[in-house]
Amino acid sequence: MAENPMLKFVSTPRDMPEKREATIRREDFHEIYAEYADQKAKEQASRCSQCGVPYCQTHCPLHNNIPDWLKLTAEGRLKEAYEVSQETNAFPEICGRICPQDRLCEGNCVIEQSGHGTVTIGSVEKYITDTAWENGWVQPIVPHAERTESVGIIGAGPGGLAAADRLRRAGVQVTIYDRYDRAGGLLTYAFPASSWKRTL
Ligand code: SF4
Repeated sequence: MAENPMLKFVSTPRDMPEKREATIRREDFHEIYAEYADQKAKEQASRCSQCGVPYCQTHCPLHNNIPDWLKLTAEGRLKEAYEVSQETNAFPEICGRICPQDRLCEGNCVIEQSGHGTVTIGSVEKYITDTAWENGWVQPIVPHAERTESVGIIGAGPGGLAAADRLRRAGVQVTIYDRYDRAGGLLTYAFPASSWKRTL
């Protein structure tokens, strides 16, 4: 029988991606944490205990299907992991970076509560989505059927873009208006561009 790839929290400690030194960080606007290497992401995802009642998911405002995409990552099925993670979240690469995970999914992770150290959910989410961008897996939305109804959205910030994402999935014709020349709102105009791997 094949070995269960999960439940490795007993033997594998929590490990975050490498944190860049403050003396180096003050010279640029790049991210504080480096990216997981492939094997490290897999290893950290495999710490998940696949809870029957996943408190990570119930405490996620988007109810992201975290246990499933952790398992798919641990199995090396990254494209499927990305597909599951983007199903409930228009911006997994952004939430993986800036969500207050310590108060949401990671803070309520069952193995965190039992003293083993949370599964590093945010870092794995970021890793999955960055991998998806690098491999061209992120594609424009193609709804099952187009509808004739149209909606205008005022504001191309995260709220407007997330609404557009949901409406397009439902086949609605969407036009987004914004006073600035680039979409993204705070994501574009409040964060230094060099801290992102891509621009919106
Ligand atoms: S609460 Fe933690 S251990 Fe349980 S399913 Fe979620 S990430 Fe895995």
